[in-house]
Amino acid sequence: MKTPAGRECPHFYGDYHRGRNTEECRLLKLQGHAWTPDLCKTCPVPEIARANSCQYMKLRVEVARPFFALFQKRVQVSAFCEKSKRDVPEPQVGCGECHALPFKFEVKE
Ligand code: SF4
Repeated sequence: MKTPAGRECPHFYGDYHRGRNTEECRLLKLQGHAWTPDLCKTCPVPEIARANSCQYMKLRVEVARPFFALFQKRVQVSAFCEKSKRDVPEPQVGCGECHALPFKFEVKE
């Protein structure tokens, strides 16, 4: 579903039927954080979800104010692989357990 920022996110939920106007981020809600629509503008989750759909990778989110962005809170993401049981430093790429890194490309002539 598209977020208020206009990007597809698997964790955004909006209900606009019959006059309702319910919106929420189910990822933040599940992990006990309050959501506001402006968080979607800078959230890295849509790009991560588009690049890596691994079923074993779980995202942990925090809402924090980076020191370089004095007034704007942002979603910060870390990832953990439940299969390899380790942190995933680059969630867009994955941990390499299921898909060996670096990728091999074969050029057939
Ligand atoms: S805050 Fe991030 S994870 Fe939550 S709905 Fe918005 S884009 Fe998706």
